[in-house]
Amino acid sequence: MKVVKTIEEIRQEVRFLKEKGRKVAFVPTMGALHDGHLSLIRLARELADDIVVSIYVNPEQFGPNDDLDSYPSNLKDDLAFCEEEGVSLVFTPDTKIIYGDEKKYFKIEIDELNTHLDGGSRPGYFQGITLVVNKLFNIVEPDLAVFGQKDYQQFQIIQQMVYEFNHDIELIMAPIKRADDGLALSSRNAYLNEKERALAPLLYQGMQRVVKAIQDGLLKPESLLKEVQKDLEAKSFKNDYLGVFSMDKMAPVTSLQKGKRYLLAGAVYLGKARLIDNIIFEC
Ligand code: AMP
Repeated sequence: MKVVKTIEEIRQEVRFLKEKGRKVAFVPTMGALHDGHLSLIRLARELADDIVVSIYVNPEQFGPNDDLDSYPSNLKDDLAFCEEEGVSLVFTPDTKIIYGDEKKYFKIEIDELNTHLDGGSRPGYFQGITLVVNKLFNIVEPDLAVFGQKDYQQFQIIQQMVYEFNHDIELIMAPIKRADDGLALSSRNAYLNEKERALAPLLYQGMQRVVKAIQDGLLKPESLLKEVQKDLEAKSFKNDYLGVFSMDKMAPVTSLQKGKRYLLAGAVYLGKARLIDNIIFEC
């Protein structure tokens, strides 16, 4: 496994692999790797000959009140983890390498896909993500890239970006990896103290309750969603959003149709952590 920092080096290494006819998969991450990332790497390994993992905490996707300064990082463990999983290349650039120092003249704008869910709650978040993923795609030029369903809106926005900007990259969505008690794995779970960690699975449990009620025939889930949010608040969660959204545009849906697929998505604050989760279900 090679660990490289500069754009020139990673380009050269990937070119070298491609000249040998190898299929290259890319797994972009912000580090503090956990079993969720592991599942992406393992899926990539099934689909390609070589895996490139990037580890880069992208400041452009953090708002002024976000956790950029405290975002967990453990490069040594991350590299051991990648090595063990047979990753070929790890790209660990810094911000000077990715963004340089000079004034910028271009910005990415995202239309209605960015209105709800995290797009609505975190201004600038997906502009920052698409900016860095665009750069990383242009730098690494993989054959395919794997992202997690945990960030469903991110996947949809990047998919649209790949289409509109003509990146020749196949995108694969990996299922959400959960702890045994149902909590979706996340680097930010490290912020939870013991008591909060014990409460954290209630978000997923509440969401499962909503999906079950819908599948049992509840086609207008608005009041149940409010009830679940109230229950979470009683357990010291602060709600950001919880709702049913369309799969393609991620627009809120209040009246569901039998036989259609929807996204139930939620975001809450618990202590210092912001937790997100989602379930894709058929009505
Ligand atoms: P991050 O390091 O949080 O930016 O995540 C890097 C990639 O891992 C993204 O594509 C995430 O959607 C994905 N990911 C994060 N947590 C999970 C999880 N629990 N299960 C599956 N994929 C995940």
